[in-house]
Amino acid sequence: MARPLKTIALLGATGSIGSSTLDVVARHPDRFRVGALTANGSVDALLALCARFRPDTAVVADKAAYPALRDGLAALGLSTRALAGPDALDEVATDPAHDTVVAAIVGAAGMASTLAAARAGKRLLLANKESVVLAGDLLVRAAREGGATLLPVDSEHNAIFQCLPADGGRQGVRRLLLTASGGPFRGRDRAALAAVTPDQACAHPNWSMGRKISVDSATLMNKGLEVIEARHLFGLPPECIEVVVHPQSVIHSLVDYVDGSVLAQLGNPDMRTALAHGLAWPERIDSGVAPLDLAALARFDFEPPDLETFPCLGLAYRALAAGGGAPAVLNAANEVAVSAFLQGTLGFLGIPDLVQACLDAHPGGPAQSLEDLLETDAAARRLAGEIIARMQRQ
Ligand code: NAD
Ligand code: MG
Repeated sequence: MARPLKTIALLGATGSIGSSTLDVVARHPDRFRVGALTANGSVDALLALCARFRPDTAVVADKAAYPALRDGLAALGLSTRALAGPDALDEVATDPAHDTVVAAIVGAAGMASTLAAARAGKRLLLANKESVVLAGDLLVRAAREGGATLLPVDSEHNAIFQCLPADGGRQGVRRLLLTASGGPFRGRDRAALAAVTPDQACAHPNWSMGRKISVDSATLMNKGLEVIEARHLFGLPPECIEVVVHPQSVIHSLVDYVDGSVLAQLGNPDMRTALAHGLAWPERIDSGVAPLDLAALARFDFEPPDLETFPCLGLAYRALAAGGGAPAVLNAANEVAVSAFLQGTLGFLGIPDLVQACLDAHPGGPAQSLEDLLETDAAARRLAGEIIARMQRQ
């Protein structure tokens, strides 16, 4: 019997994860079809993808880009429907015609559509870690209530998902060990980081990624966000989630069991492995990633993270312990800081300073509703902007 095609809504199609997803999808036309592609405002890139994948719907989040999308689709002679705005993202995330949603928007901008897909019971491939940090409790609850299948595609969480007991339980699990590459500045001290440029920060030694996550990898905030993400996705307490630096980025993470067994998932550093796993789970499909050549790699190294030079990881543990809105503050302040760093208005060391200042101003506290979290997020962004403006005046 022919296998039914899975129809995919790819949110954030023009990004790094979007392009890796489409690379895997294109290898399996017998399994997948593209129902919807979305972008923020990069219409030309979205149109090129529409010409190749012929989705039913294309969405630009930025409404100002709508006329260019509509006219471009018409000029290509495509019957693809053009939509615009945040509501349109929710619409394609919940459309009954789509069984699979890939959440690959960067930042808190992806939260509403990710939550909507969870509520709508989709098979949900989660790349958009910021929405898990911001609203992890709500997201996990929405997925449970909506009957969604959450499939982590962040490489570490995908690795842990693969190494946890197949029955979905946690019996015998002692610790989760998240690996970190250490980023492009591993081994440097604080003084050496004062003048680093965005291009230096984005030159990751092993992974090719979007600019925001590349800066997060350089500050170790990426690993901090991932600790919080792991807390929500796997339900283990923070003291059971540890980070070890592994510069080769081949061991994607590990699960330590009470009998002393440690299971790891390995592979070349290429997001197509995690995406192929999420797309086909529980089956396995070709991802286009080359087989691992252990003899050529020759060695694996490990070291503890340098929390003094890279305070962001410690700040993330602090926000997780404080609970309530604190992770939302951490994430919002970090998004503002990274954006300012990329625009040249904040130095690299200003990123942890700004996040810390915003966390100092926020006590954390009990669990928050979606409305509270959005208000906390907005307030933290305002405060972060004010602090940057004050720093510039000094
Ligand atoms: P990217 O910057 O390359 O792409 C981001 C995508 O989101 C683009 O399609 C862009 O058009 C869209 N977008 C940006 N702002 C938007 C907005 N306001 N509204 C709607 N759409 C918007 O980012 P990326 O590296 O692909 O990362 C995407 C997400 O996946 C991030 O949360 C990141 O942390 C996570 N992730 C990425 C990687 C990786 O290897 N790149 C690995 C693990 C997790
Ligand atoms: Mg990761």
